[in-house]
Amino acid sequence: MLDVVVVGAGPNGLTAAVELARRGFSVAVFEARDTVGGGARTEELTLPGFRHDPCSAAHPLGINSPAFRALPLERYGLEWLQPELPMAHPFTDGTAAVLSRSVAETAASFGPRDAGPYRRLVEPFLPKWDTLVRDFMSLPLTSLPRDPVTLARFGLVGLPPSALLTRRFHDERAKTLFAGLVAHVMAPLTGLATGAVGLVFALAAHARGWPVARGGSQSISDALTAYLKDLGGTVHTDYEVKRLDDLPPARAYVFDTSPTALARIAGFGRYYEGYRYGPGVFKVDYALDGPVPWIAEQARVAGTVQIGRDSAEIGAALRAASKEGRAPDRPFMITVQPGVVDPTRAPEGKQVFWAYGHVPSGWTGDLTDAMERQLERFAPGFRDRVLARAIAGPPELAARNANYVGGDIASGAVSGLQILLRPKLTLSPYTTPHPAVFICSSATPPGPGVHGMSGHNAAKAVWRRLRQQS
Ligand SMILES: Cc1cc2nc3c(=O)[nH]c(=O)nc-3n(C[C@H](O)[C@H](O)[C@H](O)COP(=O)(O)OP(=O)(O)OC[C@H]3O[C@@H](n4cnc5c(N)ncnc54)[C@H](O)[C@@H]3O)c2cc1C
Repeated sequence: MLDVVVVGAGPNGLTAAVELARRGFSVAVFEARDTVGGGARTEELTLPGFRHDPCSAAHPLGINSPAFRALPLERYGLEWLQPELPMAHPFTDGTAAVLSRSVAETAASFGPRDAGPYRRLVEPFLPKWDTLVRDFMSLPLTSLPRDPVTLARFGLVGLPPSALLTRRFHDERAKTLFAGLVAHVMAPLTGLATGAVGLVFALAAHARGWPVARGGSQSISDALTAYLKDLGGTVHTDYEVKRLDDLPPARAYVFDTSPTALARIAGFGRYYEGYRYGPGVFKVDYALDGPVPWIAEQARVAGTVQIGRDSAEIGAALRAASKEGRAPDRPFMITVQPGVVDPTRAPEGKQVFWAYGHVPSGWTGDLTDAMERQLERFAPGFRDRVLARAIAGPPELAARNANYVGGDIASGAVSGLQILLRPKLTLSPYTTPHPAVFICSSATPPGPGVHGMSGHNAAKAVWRRLRQQS
């Protein structure tokens, strides 16, 4: 009998598997797709030699993750590459606000009136970042906070809506950049704890940057898998789990799946009925005949580029997708250009380019034209550089990965109390009605992103249970 079976080889499933194997448990992973990775994979989606990340591409949460930092992933081939600028947010006048590794450079890009407020916002947290990130990524209390005072201060600033946090800024540049940061998790700007979302992305940039993984995000998953195998774990691909009976006998089962799928597989009936999914995304992967012709100089050297004229336009795009059930006319977009720092992604002189905008859950339309009209405002001539595109709306995203219900890449709305307490209102989110069944996907805290911390926290719950039994 195995100690642990993990269902799903996404970053959280693989991290849970590694952490349990490290503690001497026998572990087997079962993955529906023919390759490991879930939301951290890389494929030739367009033309030969163009290596695209269909899901995650930029890794502020990965490089700052306490779980990943404790694992020897570099030894297994993971190399973080740092663009000159982590992120740029260009404006139509040809200038840009930026998130730089340097607080001073970032503050200066917001203009003279907002440089001071920005420094006062981030500087108190930076010296304590490593403890803070561990503490808030372990909420709801899977371990006692190491620095409760800083965590409480962070809560005071971060728990209110981001719209309140950005009132400390006078000008639109900082407000716009922050609105874009919150939109990364598709949260409404007026939602609970959205201040914390913006603040985390900003602090992550100053602490360790927003890198891409050399060769693509697949190398994160491959490193986790290679380490797991060295620890004696096994991985079975092309194995979609439909019922608990599909799995070999084990002392614990850990699901890197949506709560809905887990309820179906394990026969939990309506246990997760209250769980809500959020809007979807429309993703386009481009093969380009050269770099994106951004007007703003800073955008040409940034790994990630946010696209949205101002905070009002970003707010309207989010509302259209999440509340009004329609695709935005001017989508807010997140784009990543790994080629600024990783020459392995495309043939010489060419580039891959990654972009998505938000759309309603399950939306079946085509956002490509609206996205490209947006891009042309900030990078005129963009369309002339396009050699090929691979598009994926909500139905395609959900077909690729069952966790992205209705195209929701956060595997559950990041709004209301669900931003903190998911998949249920409980202080024990990783356990389920069955004592041997656990959940570790991004539907559990700390939520979406490639950081493995949900897997790490769930692994703790599993080994506590297994230890009690032995
Ligand atoms: C378009 C897009 C862009 C993104 N951009 C970023 C980004 O830049 N940075 C970032 O940090 N995050 C990003 N994310 C989010 C990130 O990819 C996810 O939050 C993360 O992958 C969640 O990890 P996970 O392990 O919980 O689940 P997943 O990565 O979704 O993995 C779940 C795995 O379980 C498998 N599975 C599901 N059901 C079953 C079953 N019944 N049987 C067997 N296997 C099953 C799936 O096939 C999948 O491999 C993005 C996601 C998408 C889709």
